[in-house]
Amino acid sequence: MRFIIKDELLIPSNTAEYSLPITKIPTIPQPPLNPNFAYNPDLQQLLSGKQLLIDDIPFSIADIQTHYQHGYVTYRKGIAYNGKQPICARCGNKDPMWFATFPCARCGETCLYCRQCLMMGRISECTPLIGWNGPVPDTLSPMKPLEWRGMLSEGQRVASRHVVEAILANQEHLIWAVCGAGKTEVLFEGIEEALTAKRRICIATPRTDVVLELTPRLKAAFPNIPVASLYGGSEDRHLYAPLTIATTHQLLRFYQAFDTVILDEVDAFPYTVEKSLQHAVKQARKPTSAMIYLTATPNERWQRECRSGKRAFTTIPARFHRHPLPVPGFVWCGNWQKRLQKNKLPPNVIQWIHHRILANKQALLFFPRIPMMEKALTILRQISPDIEAVHAEDPDRKNKVQKMRAKEIPILLTTTILERGVTFPNIDVAVVGAEDTIFTESALVQIAGRAGRSKDHPEGGVTFFHYGKTDEMIKARRQIVSMNQEGIKKGMINQ
Ligand SMILES: [Zn+2]
Ligand SMILES: [Zn+2]
Repeated sequence: MRFIIKDELLIPSNTAEYSLPITKIPTIPQPPLNPNFAYNPDLQQLLSGKQLLIDDIPFSIADIQTHYQHGYVTYRKGIAYNGKQPICARCGNKDPMWFATFPCARCGETCLYCRQCLMMGRISECTPLIGWNGPVPDTLSPMKPLEWRGMLSEGQRVASRHVVEAILANQEHLIWAVCGAGKTEVLFEGIEEALTAKRRICIATPRTDVVLELTPRLKAAFPNIPVASLYGGSEDRHLYAPLTIATTHQLLRFYQAFDTVILDEVDAFPYTVEKSLQHAVKQARKPTSAMIYLTATPNERWQRECRSGKRAFTTIPARFHRHPLPVPGFVWCGNWQKRLQKNKLPPNVIQWIHHRILANKQALLFFPRIPMMEKALTILRQISPDIEAVHAEDPDRKNKVQKMRAKEIPILLTTTILERGVTFPNIDVAVVGAEDTIFTESALVQIAGRAGRSKDHPEGGVTFFHYGKTDEMIKARRQIVSMNQEGIKKGMINQ
């Protein structure tokens, strides 16, 4: 699409001789809001707090343009330039490697576009990002929207209070809660306060699994509040809701929308490696807003910032059931990869498996990579044919996890895909090849955190089989031990 500027207005025109792609127009005028204009409430719902492409909007360009001319819609450049350097306004991409050009039918020029956020629809030099500048939709909120009547543990109560304080004061706060502490409940009070104050709130997470798990829990806790649940392919895409649960990817469509963003699993892939997702979270917040981070395993830099007082945080050092976290044992297993090549596993690993099968105790066995795991599977099936293996691309993944829950699988071999998010009530956990670089401190803490989660079976064994201890293994164990010590000191763990 091309535009001209006429009477201090941006006007779509593909024919005018002096028309330009939006990127090449120096400044985009924003007409003042006309309070007498009868705006379309459906467009208001769709665009509030968003930055959408024309293709995402089921209204005509003429409709959108009229709203712009009365001050209700904004046009922003999809691609802006800092000198000669292009910047994608949606995903923040500045890397020349991630831009390309194509002969564009919309503007009739060779048009530069962003490859990094292409999966959300193409942003090029002639693409406006469309947003809302009018009043926000009015949402009714009951005085006491929270219907959850559970009890918080001592640790949860303290964290919950700090969440409320941070939300009301528009501050940043980290909740560092051990695996199994029950971090979702810690949010309820803060969400209630935000909703009653008519503040728009978003729970974001890098993982679709987490969105799917959180949605029914939040809907049950706030039954009279519209909840939008957003992930690739979800149906709530156009729903305006005071409470949104979204993958960080989906936040690329939002712009200055939320008074509070709660980021769950801040240390999880791909958020940690994809700058565009960090950019998405940042720009989805209003300029003045609160930010709550949740994690069981903050990275080293964050841990350091916590210790040095640079980052406001609250720990929940103990699990809801008041038992300590299982501390991993380190067991040397020699050159296990060499053995695997000869279709053998280390004897102590075999023995570990035998013990679990005999004792009828389910277990997760983690491997650094799929081919090694597949080899081990063939060997272990001689012990029990019911043993299974699962990895990220496994089409049968959900079914296998289900069968594990139903206790139909005695031992499940897995890559790091099951390191977080899944709960089996009574399992032991082991890692084969814990020295591999894929097993970072945070991965190992998460893996250990799979054991002993239920109050009926608070104990679970955690064994790291290795061919040489790593710093990451040592740091992981140290983190677990120190959380247990803190939990005991604060009287949150039964002794
Ligand atoms: Zn173009
Ligand atoms: Zn982009």
